[in-house]
Amino acid sequence: MRQSHTFVPTLREAPADAEAASHRLLLRAGFIRQNAAGIYSYLPLGKRVLGKIENIIREEMDATGAQELLMPAIQPAELWHETGRWEVYGPELMRLKDRHERDFALGATGEEMITSLAREVNSYKKLPMTMYQIQTKYRDEKRPRFGLLRGREFIMKDAYSFDTTKEGLDQSYEVMYDAYRKVFTRCGLNFRAVLADSGAMGGKDTQEFMALADIGEDTIAYSDTSQYASNVEMAEVQSEYEKSSESPLALEKSDGAADTPAAKRIIAKLFSVDDTYALVLVRGDHEINDVKLKNLLDARIVEDADEDTIRSMFGCGSNELGPFQVPEEVKVIADPSIQYMVNAVSGANEKGMAFINVNPDRDLAVDQYADLRLIQEGDPSPDGQGNIRFARGIEIGQIFKLGTFYSETMGAGFLDENGRAQPMIMGCYGIGVSRTIAAIVEQNHDDRGMIWPLSVAPFDLHLIVVNMKDEGQRETAEKLYEQLENHYDVLYDDRKERAGVKFADSDLIGLPIRVTVGKKASEGIVELKSRESGEMREVHVDELPAALEEITEELSR
Ligand code: ATP
Ligand code: MG
Repeated sequence: MRQSHTFVPTLREAPADAEAASHRLLLRAGFIRQNAAGIYSYLPLGKRVLGKIENIIREEMDATGAQELLMPAIQPAELWHETGRWEVYGPELMRLKDRHERDFALGATGEEMITSLAREVNSYKKLPMTMYQIQTKYRDEKRPRFGLLRGREFIMKDAYSFDTTKEGLDQSYEVMYDAYRKVFTRCGLNFRAVLADSGAMGGKDTQEFMALADIGEDTIAYSDTSQYASNVEMAEVQSEYEKSSESPLALEKSDGAADTPAAKRIIAKLFSVDDTYALVLVRGDHEINDVKLKNLLDARIVEDADEDTIRSMFGCGSNELGPFQVPEEVKVIADPSIQYMVNAVSGANEKGMAFINVNPDRDLAVDQYADLRLIQEGDPSPDGQGNIRFARGIEIGQIFKLGTFYSETMGAGFLDENGRAQPMIMGCYGIGVSRTIAAIVEQNHDDRGMIWPLSVAPFDLHLIVVNMKDEGQRETAEKLYEQLENHYDVLYDDRKERAGVKFADSDLIGLPIRVTVGKKASEGIVELKSRESGEMREVHVDELPAALEEITEELSR
C-alpha cells in the first residue's frame, strides 16, 4: 500500500491522559482514534492488526471443529429475563428501547443468545457441538481506560460448547485450553494460564489467560520454579507455621499495646455474608481474602459489615474490634496461622484498649479454622515446588465450565439415548480480540515506538525511499514495490517527506522489516533492517529476496 494515500495520521505527542504505553503508541502511530470515552475507531493500520488476530483465532477455532456463526449485537430483553440476568447484570449492561418501547440490550456477552438458538438442537446425536463468533461487545464500564485495554465497545471472540455429559464438557474445555495456548503463542505473547475465581454464575472450573505486563490490573501468583500460576485471589496458602517457645502469659487488658509488631497482632473483621455474619481473624502481617471467605461459606454476597452493625453488635468501631464477646449468631472463622500465635495482641472492643497475651486455643472461641488469607510473595508455592512471586497480568481470555445454568433456565435440552430429556452441559470461552492488540503492544515496544511480531503486524515490511526527488531512488523503489508485493504485505513510504520524518514514523509504526532505498540505489544496493534487533545490513537488490526469506523465517520462529 502506498503510504502517500493511506490514512496513517501519526502524532509527535500523545494526549496527556493516555497513561498506558499501548494507548499512547496506538494513538500516535495512527492505529486508532477515540470517538467517545472507551469507544474507538480502528484506522486502516489498526484494522489490519485486528484482521490478523481474528484470522489466527479463526484458524485455531476451526481446527478444533468449532463452527463460526454471527449473532446480533442487539439482543431482546426477553432472553435476559429468562435467566434473570436483566436484573443481575447491573449498569454495565447497556440498555435501550425501540420505537415500540420494547427493551433491548447491547450484547455484553452472548450466553442467552446462543442458548436460545441451541434450543433447536434436541437430540444427543447432534452433540457435542461448539460454536463461536467474533462480534462487537458493549459494557458500560465504570472506568473505561488504557485505550483498547478497557473499552465500552470492544471486540470479543466468544465460543460456547454443548455436551451431553460432564466428561464431555471436560473434553471440550481441554480442547479450547489447547487452542487458546496456540492462539496467544502465535500472537507472540508472553502469557500464563491461571486458575481463576468462577464468580457468581454457578460455574466451577475456570482459567484466565494473562498477558504479563506491568499495566495489567490483575495480580498473578506464580511459582519461581514450576508452571504453577493462579489469580492471587484463588491461590491456596500452604504455609507451615511454627509455634514460638514463649510460655503463655495471663490474658490482660492494656492501653500500652500500640507498638506491637504486625505479626504479633490478631486482626478481626466483621463481614456480612448473605443473611448472616462472620468474624474473620488473620494475623496482622496478612491480608484477608474475601473471595476465599465467599467460596468457603458458599455465599452469594460477602461484604464488609457497616459501622452501625459493628457498633450494635460489639459496642465499638471497626478499628477496636476484637474476637471477644462475640454475639451467638456470628460465626468466628480464623486463618490457620492464628492457631500458632502465642501471647498475641487483639482489639478489646473498646477505644484505646487492647487485649494482650491472647493465646487462641485458650482464650478464643473459634468455630472454624480455614485458609482465608491472600498468598504473599515468598510463601511456598501450593504445588509444593518453589516459592511464590507476583506479576501483573492483562486478562486476554477466559475459559469457563458453565454447567447447566443457561440450559436449565432457558429450557435448552436434548433427548438422550433412552429418550429422556436432559439439559445440555455448557462451557463458554472468550478472547478479548481488541484488548489483545493492546497487550501485544504493551509487551513489544521501545521508546521509539511499537515492535510488531510478524504474525500480527499490519504489514510485513516497510519500504522507504529516502529522497523521492531522486529519480534513481524512486525508480528502484517502484520496481521493488511491485516485486515485493507478490510475496509480502508492503507499506511503501512514497511520501515527499524529509528522511528524518519517515524514519521516525517507521520506528513508531514498528513493522518487523524495513527496506530503505537511499544513496546507494545507483549501485543497486539497499538497506535491510530488523525493527526488533535493530540489526542493519546492506544488500544488493538481486540478493534481497533470499535475504528477506531468511529474516522472515527467523522472525517466525
Ligand atoms: P475484566 O475482568 O477485565 O473486566 P471480564 O472477566 O469481565 O474482564 P469476560 O466476561 O471474561 O471479561 O470477557 C471475555 C474477554 O473479553 C476478557 O477475557 C477480556 O479479554 C475481554 N474484555 C472484557 N471486558 C473488556 C473491555 N471492557 N474492553 C476490552 N476487552 C474486554
Ligand atoms: Mg473474565
